[in-house]
Amino acid sequence: MTCSEAEVLLHALLDGELDAGNARDVEAHVELCPQCGPQLAGYRELQRAMQVAQLRFTAPTRLRRRIDEAIPARPAARTSSRRSVLKGFVMGTALSTAMAATVLVAVVRPDQDQRLLGDIVSAHVRSLQADHLTDVRTSDQHTVKPWFNGKVDIAPPVVDLTAKGFLLLGGRLDYIDGQPVASIVYRRRQHVINLFVADGAPSETREPRFQSLQGFNIQRWTARGLEFFAVSDLNAEELREFADKFEGELHPAGRT
Ligand SMILES: [Zn+2]
Repeated sequence: MTCSEAEVLLHALLDGELDAGNARDVEAHVELCPQCGPQLAGYRELQRAMQVAQLRFTAPTRLRRRIDEAIPARPAARTSSRRSVLKGFVMGTALSTAMAATVLVAVVRPDQDQRLLGDIVSAHVRSLQADHLTDVRTSDQHTVKPWFNGKVDIAPPVVDLTAKGFLLLGGRLDYIDGQPVASIVYRRRQHVINLFVADGAPSETREPRFQSLQGFNIQRWTARGLEFFAVSDLNAEELREFADKFEGELHPAGRT
C-alpha cells in the first residue's frame, strides 16, 4: 500500500467504514510510515477533541447583524439548490465537520462542492480497493434497478450500454458522508466507471460539467430531479461519451 492509497482510506478507517482486511492493511502501513503515522495520530486527536468539545456557539447579535449585512440576500432558488447538494453529503461526519470548521470563514458553495467531489472520488477509490465493486453483480439492467428498492430514497435509472461499449457490471449501495447513495457500475476496457446517483432539486437544471480531482475524471449532470456523478480514470472524452449515451438511452428521441 502506498501513502496516497493509505491517505484516501484514513478517514474511512477513523469512521469505521473499512472492512477488517482493509483496516488491517491501512493500520499496517500507518504503523511503519513516517508520514501517515503522524497524520492518523493527528486526525485521532482531532476526533477525540471533537467528542468532548462544545461545538456550537451563538453569535452575538451585533456580529450576526454584521454578517447579515455583509452577505447579499440569497435568492430562493439558491437555497433549494444548496439543499440539493445531496442533502446529507453536506452534513458530514464529525471529523469532516471538524476539518470544515477550521476553514469556516472561507466555506462557501465551491468549497462544499469540492468536498463533495472529494468524497465521491474517495468512494470510487474505495470501491476499487476493497474488492467490493458490486453488491449485485449482473449485466441485466432489470435486475439492478429493482435491487435498489428500499435501499435508497430514489429510483436510479439503470440502462444496459454494453452494445454501446460500456459494460454494465452491476450496482452497489455506497455511503458518501454517511448517507446511502446508489452506484451503478460500468466498465470500459479496464476502466471502471462508478455512476453515483443522488437526489437533486427537481426544478434545477444545470449544464453538464466536467471536473478532475486527484487524477480522476468526473462528469456530472442533473436530470429528472436526480444528480449524476460519473467518476472514473477513463479519459475525459470517453467519460463524456458515456454520459451522452446514458442519457441518450433513456431518451432515444434526443436530450432536452
Ligand atoms: Zn504512508
